[in-house]
Amino acid sequence: MSAPVSSILAHKFGGTSMADATRIAHAAHLLLAETGFTAQVTVVSAMKGTTDALIRCAQLASKQDASWQSLLDDLLKRHRDAADSLLTTNRSDADDFFDTEGERLREVLHALSLLKSLPDTAFEWVQGLGEVWSAYLLHAHLVSLGEQADYLDARKVLVVHDDNHLGIDIDWQASAANLKAWRAQHQANRVIVTGFIASDIEGKARVLGRNGSDWSGAIFAKLFSADELTIWTDVDGVLSADPRLVPEAEWVPSLSFEEACELAYFGAQVLHPRSLQPVMSANIPLRIRNSFKPEHPGSVISKTPSTQPPVKGVSAITDLALVTIEGTGLMGVPGTAER
Ligand code: ASP
Ligand code: MG
Repeated sequence: MSAPVSSILAHKFGGTSMADATRIAHAAHLLLAETGFTAQVTVVSAMKGTTDALIRCAQLASKQDASWQSLLDDLLKRHRDAADSLLTTNRSDADDFFDTEGERLREVLHALSLLKSLPDTAFEWVQGLGEVWSAYLLHAHLVSLGEQADYLDARKVLVVHDDNHLGIDIDWQASAANLKAWRAQHQANRVIVTGFIASDIEGKARVLGRNGSDWSGAIFAKLFSADELTIWTDVDGVLSADPRLVPEAEWVPSLSFEEACELAYFGAQVLHPRSLQPVMSANIPLRIRNSFKPEHPGSVISKTPSTQPPVKGVSAITDLALVTIEGTGLMGVPGTAER
């Protein structure tokens, strides 16, 4: 993996690519194998299953079901175990980090159980901690290997607001200004960024929606003016159809932003549907690659794809029924069919 000098390269690793110490070490290995960049920006998901477990903890606590405590203990243990294998020089910092993080989360969950309720603010804060921890581990691992790297908690930079039409939306201006200020203080050429999380303008923790780290990857690629974004996942890239339904589905080496949008729109689960918008607007090619098979070239989504294969994909939405309603009573009476 080599790139033209002075390029800014962005990466995103999903939950399966961050699942345990072995996978995190492998992600670090892929990052260290890359050369010839001025900045390498890496956005990560939580370790696989962490977000689900955090959500469960919050729900259980708010119902005064005390089983959240052992669930939390297991979760913290999993992260400490990963720290044990990944870190040498900075092992004791990680102990302090997970002590503080665990204690703070325990206090919040305890408060939820006293209140017997789950306010949105608390729920979003709890959900996003998995990314804080996984990014910490990858960053600390690089530091332990003697690398220079900075850790960016996206809640310090990325500002979102609620939009009536889109759900949540990015405040690009505020986020770009925050990143500029942050970058003035943090100049390492490798940056590890938490996916999935952001803040609102008042500084309250927000999340970008389930599987939102792809979107984070694209947002940070745009904020850092990256030359390309690689999304590391557990499949070889885009396939022409869902292989569970169509065994002869083929790997698609390249497709256009528009084609990728169409596929996302019609339900193909390649990427979080909103992740194309930032890279498309900034014209950043996006490559989907398999972290379990890095020798595979993956699929590139860009402005200028090849024309082969002519049909890039077939996708399906399942469990749908088509209902035909007819009758003279429908004519000229708006709203009847809907009723
Ligand atoms: N960890 C978050 C989730 O499980 C975000 C992501 O992995 O993309 O939804
Ligand atoms: Mg994902």
